[in-house]
Amino acid sequence: MSTTPAYEGRVLRSTGSWYEVQVADAPAEVPAVVPSRIRGKFRLEDSDVTNPVAVGDRVTIRYNPDEETGMIVDIHERRNRLSRRAAGRRVEQEHVMVANIDRAWAVQAVQQPPLNPAFVDRLLVMAEMHNIPAGLVINKIDLADTEQRQQAKEVAARYQAIDYPVYCTSAIEGTGVAAWNAALRNQVNVVTGPSGAGKSSLINAIAPELEIETKSISEQTQKGRHTTTFAALHPLPEGGHIVDTPGVREFGILDLHPADLCHFFVEFVPYIDACKFDDCTHDHEPGCAIKEAVDEGAIHAARYESYLSILYSLQDGMEGVGR
Ligand code: GDP
Ligand code: ZN
Repeated sequence: MSTTPAYEGRVLRSTGSWYEVQVADAPAEVPAVVPSRIRGKFRLEDSDVTNPVAVGDRVTIRYNPDEETGMIVDIHERRNRLSRRAAGRRVEQEHVMVANIDRAWAVQAVQQPPLNPAFVDRLLVMAEMHNIPAGLVINKIDLADTEQRQQAKEVAARYQAIDYPVYCTSAIEGTGVAAWNAALRNQVNVVTGPSGAGKSSLINAIAPELEIETKSISEQTQKGRHTTTFAALHPLPEGGHIVDTPGVREFGILDLHPADLCHFFVEFVPYIDACKFDDCTHDHEPGCAIKEAVDEGAIHAARYESYLSILYSLQDGMEGVGR
């Protein structure tokens, strides 16, 4: 066995005990996607995780040319991951849905449904918590009247000012789609946002051959939240991947202590240590450097309002209930 060649790859999906591993720079005799199994020992090592190998994992496989299958012999360290809780036998376990995400995109429509920056702010907090770079897509700009166009511009500027990439698109007319597509290239992308914002339409605009799969997966979602849904990495035509996982599309901010929230509003961070009180919640306290920054216009008032809204829901223990 030790003489079989080793390749590095990425897990695209898992079905039971098999993992589809996309091999980077596979030689001609190796298929681009190798059905692979894992060594038994990985199962035993990590008992607080239900799946030792997750979609998105970078792995080393040993390729068996006779069977045209692989054996996963090494799992590379994860840069980040999105998980959900799983009921374990003894302790609560973690189920890793996707690992090694390069960007999580919050998709919003200018209307139908209306643009909702508070929703974006929640997604950004989640992304920062998990160490996942995020971005924003404002879709359906073809539907925008003058006022909505102005609002979209203002919202775009708000997030660009704090270093999140923003794309304004129309999946129907094609505006901005090529620019967004270029940002997806060679990246592992997660697409999130409210139902109807145009996520499927955008994905179909850049990767029409995925159409059937995106449809079938959204149909799957409608069947009910309680059925297990698996993430999959779909290769994009120009390189890179898009993750379709219904579970990632709607999430709460779980397990976050209210005192930690401010660290996930990236533009708040430089001010935190300047507050008068060490345990400042940046709500009502005097001498709050964050509130001063809001008053001076250095922090956008709407972002601060989102902060307060999430803070109160965390203080009330309301997060994770679903929206
Ligand atoms: P999803 O739920 O986020 O996947 O949204 P869909 O992609 O299913 O789109 C919801 C509806 O909005 C569909 O009727 C689409 O045709 C429509 N739609 C999506 N993108 C656009 C767009 O850019 N402009 C317009 N006018 N309609 C769009
Ligand atoms: Zn403060």
